[in-house]
Amino acid sequence: MEFKGVCLAVIGHPIAHSISPEMHNAALDVLKAVDTRFNDWSYYRFDIHPDQLAEALPLFHKQKFHGLNLTIPHKVQALGLIKEIEPRAKLMGAVNTLVWHKAGYLGMNTDGHGLEQGLWRDLKIKFTGSAVIIIGAGGAARSAAVQAILSGCTQLYLGNRSPARLEALIHNLKPIAKKTQLQAISIDSLPLDLPNSGILVNATALGLKPEDPAPIDIEQIPSGWKVYDMIYNPPETAMLKQAKAHGLEVANGLSMLVAQGARSLEAWTNKTIDKATMLNAARNALKQQL
Ligand code: NAP
Repeated sequence: MEFKGVCLAVIGHPIAHSISPEMHNAALDVLKAVDTRFNDWSYYRFDIHPDQLAEALPLFHKQKFHGLNLTIPHKVQALGLIKEIEPRAKLMGAVNTLVWHKAGYLGMNTDGHGLEQGLWRDLKIKFTGSAVIIIGAGGAARSAAVQAILSGCTQLYLGNRSPARLEALIHNLKPIAKKTQLQAISIDSLPLDLPNSGILVNATALGLKPEDPAPIDIEQIPSGWKVYDMIYNPPETAMLKQAKAHGLEVANGLSMLVAQGARSLEAWTNKTIDKATMLNAARNALKQQL
């Protein structure tokens, strides 16, 4: 297949439900209206099996795909397949954005930035100076934890279903933690001495199915905490419902999705990206899936 113009794409497996093409093409339309250099830019989606990734990335590079977003399950595997990785992505142990350079792709990670922007947009709260609980120990949790530490959170409590994965995450974070106090917690009983305020982030996959329970007992969270669930589909997980009923301010992960995508597009275009357009396009694309 031959591709004309400047091509961008998201690759993952499965990929059919990704709303990134709608989000990015809407933002590209805004750029095209004011700058003709973007007239031949397009964003696609490709289903690439993990076994095919090593073969596929050089082909995308040869076809001069200017930028790629990587989603489940490629973010970690791609680290070993690209030319250069920015320091933050190395710490996060994953890349979600590749930028074409002649010698090979440069790998970046915009997930942590996306989360931080989402927290500010929806909940008016920052990692800097805050206590933070992250539930989960997969790729998204690690990006969130690195971002929280680099931004200067005071305490970082980490909990996960599998203790071994939690221990591995804490082991990886210790060298960068500096002034942040790191603490492993049980998801069954949270510490009784939590500060009065802070940020709780769900970075698990628990909540993706409408019948999923909350990953922790929200009743144990003090009333000054704000709650962010990285999941945006369904829009209100059990955790968010319970947190709202408990009187806490809540937000879902759509703002993170938009902000990480906008950051990728900024890296590819060197332009400021209209996030409101991306958010509208994302909401419309999600409605189409109902
Ligand atoms: P991952 O690497 O596969 O990690 C999955 C995490 O979920 C692990 O901590 C796992 O615990 C936990 N988990 C899975 N099923 C569970 C269950 N039934 N009960 C309790 N814990 C469970 O996935 P990921 O890439 O980190 O993604 C995690 C979540 O973040 C997903 O829901 C994803 O959609 C979301 N996300 C959102 C954005 C956004 O832009 N909004 C971006 C990235 C990710 P174990 O270690 O015990 O298996």
